Amino acid sequence: MSVRPLVIGNWKMNLDFVEALHLTQQLGVLLKNHPVEHTDVVIAPPFVDLRSVGSILDAERLPVALGAQHVNPQENGAHTGEVSVSMLQRLGVEWVIVGHSERRTNYAMSDEVVAATLRAVVRAGLHAVLCVGEALSVREADEHESFVAAQLRSALGGLEERFHPLVSVAYEPLWAIGTGVNATAEQVSQMSGLVRGVLAELLAGAPPVLYGGSVNAENAGTLVRSSDLDGFLVGGASLKAESFCAILHACDDCYAIKR
Ligand code: PEP
Repeated sequence: MSVRPLVIGNWKMNLDFVEALHLTQQLGVLLKNHPVEHTDVVIAPPFVDLRSVGSILDAERLPVALGAQHVNPQENGAHTGEVSVSMLQRLGVEWVIVGHSERRTNYAMSDEVVAATLRAVVRAGLHAVLCVGEALSVREADEHESFVAAQLRSALGGLEERFHPLVSVAYEPLWAIGTGVNATAEQVSQMSGLVRGVLAELLAGAPPVLYGGSVNAENAGTLVRSSDLDGFLVGGASLKAESFCAILHACDDCYAIKR
């Protein structure tokens, strides 16, 4: 771990605005009592919670940035049910998750739309967290490396250099997301190495490489200490302030030791 750790909580379609306020307040209390020193923290609530969560983060001056789980790459117009980058920006969103596997698989988000979305996000000056990862069948066919490399090339190939500092990548194997079966430290290391190698061809600098897939308070320390990672994208365990904070501190402690 050579850059500041980054941990993003993806709340998915959980927590109405009252529950979201409650979780943000709990997180605030824990972080005030036991602050993280080195770790950049982002939470990505559902769209409808962004304003209320953002107002608590501002009012309490919490060291937590606001993220969105998805965005439409178009600027405006006839896109019923969608939300644009400028709408998110007006709510104080600074980070956007792009191409989460649930969007790719369940909502037919193609590689082309992922690439267009990433460009819309970074052109507006927001940080894009590009998600890549293989399904179990792809891994069983021993094609996970070429599959993930192709996803990276498709999303990032030809991106103008001035936008490179706004890109982070989350390696999230589909078979580990929400299953309770995390990738092993060895599997994560192998894939973070592959991701870093492909990124070195595509981007200037060294973008943060995160892992996501059943990360929790118990496995975060081992994963971050024994894999070449810059942090995590966390789903289920970000819905409880205690477990999310434990993951933040695992990263914070690791960075303090390794840097
Ligand atoms: C995710 O949604 O990106 C994720 C990694 O979920 P979980 O931590 O629940 O596996």
